Amino acid sequence: MIITRQKPFEEIQEMTAPFDKLFVIGCGTCSTSCQTGGEEQVAEMVERLGDKVIGSAMVEEPCDLRIDRKDLKAHRGTISEADAILAMSCGVGVQTIGDYTDKVVLPALETLFIGETERIGKFYDRCMACGECILDETGGICPITRCAKGLLNGPCGGQVEGKCEVGEYINDCAWVLIYNRLNEQGRLDLFTKFRPPRDYSKKTLTTELIF
Ligand code: SF4
Ligand code: SF4
Repeated sequence: MIITRQKPFEEIQEMTAPFDKLFVIGCGTCSTSCQTGGEEQVAEMVERLGDKVIGSAMVEEPCDLRIDRKDLKAHRGTISEADAILAMSCGVGVQTIGDYTDKVVLPALETLFIGETERIGKFYDRCMACGECILDETGGICPITRCAKGLLNGPCGGQVEGKCEVGEYINDCAWVLIYNRLNEQGRLDLFTKFRPPRDYSKKTLTTELIF
């Protein structure tokens, strides 16, 4: 899931100030689960922004152009009258809504990471979409995301009793987690496998996928 956090209201007010007529769009998927852009949060935002809001809608998945077309069809008239749209979705949703409409689309949320959900309000950063997944070699624990230095070949000298030196020894050292997991799985041979520097072109050049 894409994890988001709502921007401070003062920032949203400042961003929306130049526009007299706003249309607010919420996200029925990730932002609903994060409680940052679900029906309740959209209703709160509409109330807080007051008279300048001329309409609002929920889109099941604003990051999917097909669903924007379907869910916003009934609102096209109102949207055409708006000066700007406030999107309560991740940055992908903001951009997709921008592709669907010819309006200025403003982001109400900060997009934080691709995360694992433990419960509503407790999420963990788990994947940076690197384009070269090595979870098969690391016991299903991602060192790119969970090691503060993104190390590929075991821990640095900064771990103490399984905790990472970055951030005052609060977070687990990813490489200690990886060692323990591989040990449990009887796959420790993978721990000493050398992994060459990553080819970052696989990440930076993957800007679209068509099949
Ligand atoms: S290695 Fe980590 S960052 Fe890369 S795709 Fe796999 S989980 Fe995501
Ligand atoms: S202590 Fe562990 S998690 Fe922290 S930077 Fe070093 S290897 Fe990475």
